[in-house]
Amino acid sequence: MSGIAEGWVRWPDPVAEGYRSRGWWAGTRLETVIAARAREQPDATAVTDPSGRWSNARLAGAVERRAAGFAGTGLVAGDRVIVQLPNDAEFLVTFLGLLRLGVAPVLALPALRTAELVHLAETTDAVGYVAPAAHLGTDHRVLADELRERCPGVRQVFLAGADGGPGTTPLADVDAAPLDLPARGADEIAFFLLSGGTTGLPKVIARTHDDYLHNLRHSAAAAGLAPGEVFLAVLSVCHNFTLGCPGVLGTLWTGGSVVLGGPRSPDECADLLAPHGVSYTAVTPPTVAGWLDRVAERGVTAPALRAVQVGAAKLTPRLADRIRAELGAAVQQSFGMSEGLLLQTTSGDPHAIARETQGVPVSPGDEIRLVDADDVDVPDGTEGHLLVRGPYTIRGYYRAPDHDRSAFTDDGFYRSGDLAVRRPDGRYVVTGRAKDVVNRGGEIVSAAEVEEHLRRHPGVRDAAVVAVPDERLGERTCAVVVPEPGAPPPRLPVLRRHLRERGVAPFKWPDTVRVVPDLPRTALGKTDKTALRAGLARPRRTQGDPCSSTGPTTT
Ligand code: AMP
Repeated sequence: MSGIAEGWVRWPDPVAEGYRSRGWWAGTRLETVIAARAREQPDATAVTDPSGRWSNARLAGAVERRAAGFAGTGLVAGDRVIVQLPNDAEFLVTFLGLLRLGVAPVLALPALRTAELVHLAETTDAVGYVAPAAHLGTDHRVLADELRERCPGVRQVFLAGADGGPGTTPLADVDAAPLDLPARGADEIAFFLLSGGTTGLPKVIARTHDDYLHNLRHSAAAAGLAPGEVFLAVLSVCHNFTLGCPGVLGTLWTGGSVVLGGPRSPDECADLLAPHGVSYTAVTPPTVAGWLDRVAERGVTAPALRAVQVGAAKLTPRLADRIRAELGAAVQQSFGMSEGLLLQTTSGDPHAIARETQGVPVSPGDEIRLVDADDVDVPDGTEGHLLVRGPYTIRGYYRAPDHDRSAFTDDGFYRSGDLAVRRPDGRYVVTGRAKDVVNRGGEIVSAAEVEEHLRRHPGVRDAAVVAVPDERLGERTCAVVVPEPGAPPPRLPVLRRHLRERGVAPFKWPDTVRVVPDLPRTALGKTDKTALRAGLARPRRTQGDPCSSTGPTTT
């Protein structure tokens, strides 16, 4: 097993020094945020979850005991542990406890399955896996067994909520009397995120304490978070958006408290707004659209809600208007990426700005370039490829040097794969993307990854995955497949079952399938997705849906 720093691309030393001298990297570790709050306001509420109220002191004490307990199980600083927990206080105790020990959590969205967990474990050399015994119908004990079978380096499995059986440790049994753990620096890797993908397989992202504290501080300032804020975490806390943009950690940093809904779905979280006096939350467009329906149908109210941050996928001006009118809350747009950069409309922006733009970079250290296909900067008002570097944007993926050659410029700018326009007033509007992904309402699906799985089906000779418009999600996934000669054309349920059996997260399964005799090719022999999209967009003889699972060539 190789050390944590192996394959990690750091910021060049002079750049790092510059960030420190400007105070952009404060030398503060993330777990000390809750320790500081416990000293200043021990009795104030840090977290409310289905188990009850957690004061700052209770949370800080639990973090110390969890860190000591993990040390007792043999985990040591520099180890990596996959954490796939739902939105409850156990997540925070575990996440911060691992950080306290110097062990890096590898954050896995609850929807991820064996294929993705194995990819994460192999890339990071993870030695442990923390999960609920079961969550929303998924038996994580089965996932844990499959993971250990395929990745023997995963020595330890910790399960929350139940006795998981042989070879596993109940998370509740881990805790031990606090230890006098050595102080650690803030310039080391804190945790890992999984990229939504630019090209090819999703990549692993290493975030440091220094860079992530900068991320959440500046995001919180732009959002206008204040002490006393009550933040409702709706999407998974294992997602960058919810964790620290400003999210859970940004709220704790500014002296607010966090509501974690446990195993509730994002839609059901609307019911927590009124009882918990939620003042701020972060959602995707489809989630908030579902909330608006609940408001209309069931009279859900949100009297304390001052602002709703909407991000991860494109927000339409119409939905922005409905949020303001029907929830009575200000809209804040957020455009962000696990790799770093955050654009946000700010708390002081008028609604006209918040409905039309994704705002401005949150940090004075963000350097953004919009360039044409030859990497030449384009003027304001012209669409360009968004490149970025700065104090919280990575300089390279974790252990992916080949991919880095195309994903980063020689001088360290990250090629986000997004297209944007800078308006003369300095605000950005994200106009599209050049990368080959589908954004299913904020869930990013890498086309290449799904195509690779589809090609492994015996009835599929070739496959291409493209986004098609969807009223609710913005986009959904269409698999265009070329069948093996003589084989029956693969039907949608068959392909979905195939992906399930390969251990692929359900949000990546195709929503529709189109069977074609051949895929269009570019002059270089690659799949011509532009032609494919244009072909799919042409109305079909039997129905207007460009990519339906029920049409004549579709099965
Ligand atoms: P992830 O790393 O999973 O957070 O995905 C980041 C990607 O999500 C970005 O590069 C964008 O393509 C997309 N994204 C994030 N926020 C927005 C937004 N507000 N509007 C459109 N796309 C977004």
